[in-house]
Amino acid sequence: MKPVVIIGAGMAGLQAASQLHLNQIPFLLVDAQNHVGGRLHSEHVKGFTLDVGFQVLQTNYPEVQRSLDLPALDLASFESGAYLWYQAGWLAFVNPLKQPGSLFDALASGIMTIKDALLLARLWFITQKDVEPLGSHESTQDFLNRWGFSTKFQAHFLRPFFAGIFLSAGLNPPASLFRYYMKQFLEGTAAMPAAGIGAIPLHIAAALPADSIRLGTQVTQVSAHQVNFADGSSVEASRVILATDASTAAKLLGVSLEKGAFWSTKTLYFQAPASADNKSMLHLVPNSRVLHYAYLNNVQPSYAPKGKDLISVTTLDVSMQSADVLAELALFVGPSIQKWAFLKEYLLPEALPVVGAFDELKQKAVEAGIVLAGDFTGFPSLQSAMHSGREAAESCLPA
Ligand SMILES: Cc1cc2nc3c(=O)[nH]c(=O)nc-3n(C[C@H](O)[C@H](O)[C@H](O)COP(=O)(O)OP(=O)(O)OC[C@H]3O[C@@H](n4cnc5c(N)ncnc54)[C@H](O)[C@@H]3O)c2cc1C
Repeated sequence: MKPVVIIGAGMAGLQAASQLHLNQIPFLLVDAQNHVGGRLHSEHVKGFTLDVGFQVLQTNYPEVQRSLDLPALDLASFESGAYLWYQAGWLAFVNPLKQPGSLFDALASGIMTIKDALLLARLWFITQKDVEPLGSHESTQDFLNRWGFSTKFQAHFLRPFFAGIFLSAGLNPPASLFRYYMKQFLEGTAAMPAAGIGAIPLHIAAALPADSIRLGTQVTQVSAHQVNFADGSSVEASRVILATDASTAAKLLGVSLEKGAFWSTKTLYFQAPASADNKSMLHLVPNSRVLHYAYLNNVQPSYAPKGKDLISVTTLDVSMQSADVLAELALFVGPSIQKWAFLKEYLLPEALPVVGAFDELKQKAVEAGIVLAGDFTGFPSLQSAMHSGREAAESCLPA
């Protein structure tokens, strides 16, 4: 029996492979890189664990709950909330569902109004029913303005926090996606595995037969029942699941993507001698080129050697250099920033696909008889990548 060939061993491809394996359908999973995971990858540098682009595992995602053995990943979670910069100091704004008193501190400080608090409560209430991530055409920014969140609360919390999730400074993604993520953050936790975010795909791959995975194998051509590789060889397939990033899928199917089909970001890592600071939430930096920074070892101690801090800095300005970051953050971090030493940076020009930018690609795949998977087929997240992989595999099962 010819195998189902899955191109791309990111979370979508791995999830497709797991489902086929569960159903005893032969498959071949190939990836151009020498590791599985795609955009979910970690490197180990000088004793630090560096995720290739700061990201977290939302433990509440249905696919995560359904498919991952969370205890095996040895997770540690961010405290739910963020530090907000207001009147020359940091204010801890903890998720009101977990620490209601935090709401009163925020109200007393003046960073949010009573109307903001009521709107948050209303938002939480509607997210109990409204869980369709792609259900609206209104942008998140228009939604926040229409509902009447105060300028201050938007500038100090909503905008930097959600710009960091969407990687869109203008909060362009749909308001329904904002409500979906808000629900995940209010009700779940944002976690990091002990061995780095890249442990998640490794964990899935470990349960698959090793001879069904071929790494370092770039696909150059694809049709409904044949896949050609860069070394000139090819393989026949019962079905093909194309689970690459959207750019590669478009190239392989001969589709031109519009400019602006992706959101970009850069993560810069710094080390410092361990400080007395044990803050385990993101520091949101308002009206700045930096969106947020975090002491990652305060959340997951395995990310840094003993006696050291590991600080991640996330920006949407991909031209930012480490010196720019230090200058920009001096006010917010204070004198201890002089002890920060640059470790490494990761520039991700195609970090997240823009919702709705891939309709032609999806249509072309249908016409070519190829099954598409990947976050770009839905919305940019592990949930969507894994869900698309599951659906792709199900479509290859015998009727
Ligand atoms: C900086 C950053 C932060 C993020 N933050 C979060 C977050 O906090 N929470 C969240 O849920 N999601 C987050 N995401 C999104 C999440 O990482 C992605 O949605 C998910 O990893 C996408 O998986 P995928 O399988 O669809 O695609 P990819 O991971 O892109 O996998 C595609 C695979 O195809 C392979 N490939 C490409 N071309 C070829 C070829 N020609 N031949 C063979 N193989 C090929 C690639 O090597 C890659 O392994 C973040 C992403 C980034 C980059």
